[in-house]
Amino acid sequence: MKTGRILLKIAIGLGVVLLSFTSWPGSWATKLEGLTERPAVQLQVPKDYWEDVYIPSKTLNRKAVEDIRVLSDPGLQGRRAGTAGETKTLVYLEKQLKDLHLLPFGVENNYWQLFSIPTMKETIINGRVLFRPDPRDSFLNPSANILAAIPGQDPSQNVIISAHYDHLGVYKGQLYPGANDNASGVACVLEVTRRLTADALAGKHPIPNIVVAFWGAEEMGFLGSSYFVSQPTVPLTTIKAVINFDSVANGPKEDFILWSKEEDNLVSTVLQVVSGMGGNIKKVPGQGHASDELPFGRVGVPAVTLLSEQWLTKNHTPEDDIKGINEEKLDLASDILYALVKEIAY
Ligand SMILES: [Zn+2]
Repeated sequence: MKTGRILLKIAIGLGVVLLSFTSWPGSWATKLEGLTERPAVQLQVPKDYWEDVYIPSKTLNRKAVEDIRVLSDPGLQGRRAGTAGETKTLVYLEKQLKDLHLLPFGVENNYWQLFSIPTMKETIINGRVLFRPDPRDSFLNPSANILAAIPGQDPSQNVIISAHYDHLGVYKGQLYPGANDNASGVACVLEVTRRLTADALAGKHPIPNIVVAFWGAEEMGFLGSSYFVSQPTVPLTTIKAVINFDSVANGPKEDFILWSKEEDNLVSTVLQVVSGMGGNIKKVPGQGHASDELPFGRVGVPAVTLLSEQWLTKNHTPEDDIKGINEEKLDLASDILYALVKEIAY
C-alpha cells in the first residue's frame, strides 16, 4: 500500500478525471461518459459457453492456502512489478483462470492488459519498504493486469472482484514474500472464482459478468488499477461494483476493516453481509493508505477494499510470510467474498 503523493502524480499523468460522488447504483453512470479516449466494447458471450466444458473437481476444489504457498515461493522472487518474478506470477495466474474456462477480458481477446511503469527505488518509512520513482533511470518497464470473466446473463453489466498480485521483490538480499500482502487477497479471489465456476457448470449463472481482475504494480502507486480506469476493457459505466481484497488473512479471525471513498449502497451491503457472517467490520479512513479501490472511487465507480484490521503488522517486511497466515481467517475471507458476490450479482 502506498501513500498519496505518487498516486496523485500518476493519476494526473494518466489523465484520470476526478469526478464527484453519486450513489450506487444510481446516476453515476452518466458522469463517466467521455472519460476514456478509446471506447470499450461490450462482451459477446456465446450462448453455449459452458456446454461440454469439463473441469476436474481437483481444480474446482483447490483451496486458497495452496495459492499463497505458490505466490510466496522464493521462485517468484517477491513478485515485484517489472521483474521476471512478476512475469512468472502473471503466467501462473493466467493458467489458473484458463483452467477454469473463464473468458479473456483483457485487450483483444487476451487475458493480459499491458502497461508501462517507471523505474522505482526503495525507501524505508516507519520500518516499511516503499517505492519512489528513481530519478537516475528514466526508462520505463512493462507490467500487466490479468483480466478474465465468468459470463453473466446480462453481459452489459459487470461486477469486478479483484486483488493486486505484485509485491516488493528482493531488497538488500532479502526476499519480501508478501504472503498476506497480497498473496492472501489473490488466493481468496481465485478460490471464490473456482466456486462460482462450479456454480456456472451447475447452471447457476450470475446476472452481470463477474470480472476477475489481478492488478499489477499496486505497490508502486495503484498503477495497474489506474491504468485500467484510464483504458477500461469494458465501459466504466457498466461496472456496478468493485470488491477488492488486500492483505486479508493475518491477525484474529473475525476482525476486518473496509476502505472506500464513499458511504454508498455497496459499503452498507458489505458491512451487513460481513457482520451477518460473524465478522467484526468497520469502515475506517485510510489515514494516508489506500489500495486499488481508489482509482475507481475517484471516477464514481462504487469500489471497496476489505482488509484485516491488523494488516500493518509485519507489512512490507521480510516477515510477511506464510507463517503469519491465519488459515481460519483465510477461509472466512473467501466465504465473505463468495457471499458478497451472491448477494450483489445473483
Ligand atoms: Zn503493500
